[in-house]
Amino acid sequence: MEDCLFCKIAAGELATEFIYSDDQVVVFKDINPQAPVHLLIVPRRHIKDLNNIVETDAELIGHIYQIAAKLAAEYDIADSGYRLVSNCGADGGQSVFHIHFHLLGGRELQWPPG
Ligand code: 5GP
Repeated sequence: MEDCLFCKIAAGELATEFIYSDDQVVVFKDINPQAPVHLLIVPRRHIKDLNNIVETDAELIGHIYQIAAKLAAEYDIADSGYRLVSNCGADGGQSVFHIHFHLLGGRELQWPPG
């Protein structure tokens, strides 16, 4: 989608190092990390937010969770614990309107979130 930051990053149009990539997703470090490990898992295809997930996206969402678990193991936070979060809409704290999943860990995370 034109003028979408994460579409541009996924297309390799902006200088962003991918931690992981495949035909469905790209993963890169958050520019403003909120934890020692803060990765963004982003589908290549433009989906605005969680409200726009449909049944045919089930395989993609399952894939994202698998990638999250694999990266948590690689970053050595699988045993200590981590969080996978997708903010939705203004009150949910979403600022980039291309769906993405924050993988956060490496410190004790608070609950409830602010
Ligand atoms: P949201 O607020 O939509 O849940 O998450 C968007 C995230 O994208 C934020 O944590 C923000 O720091 C991150 N972000 C925004 N612009 C860029 C960018 O150009 N590069 C990277 N790596 N992260 C970005």
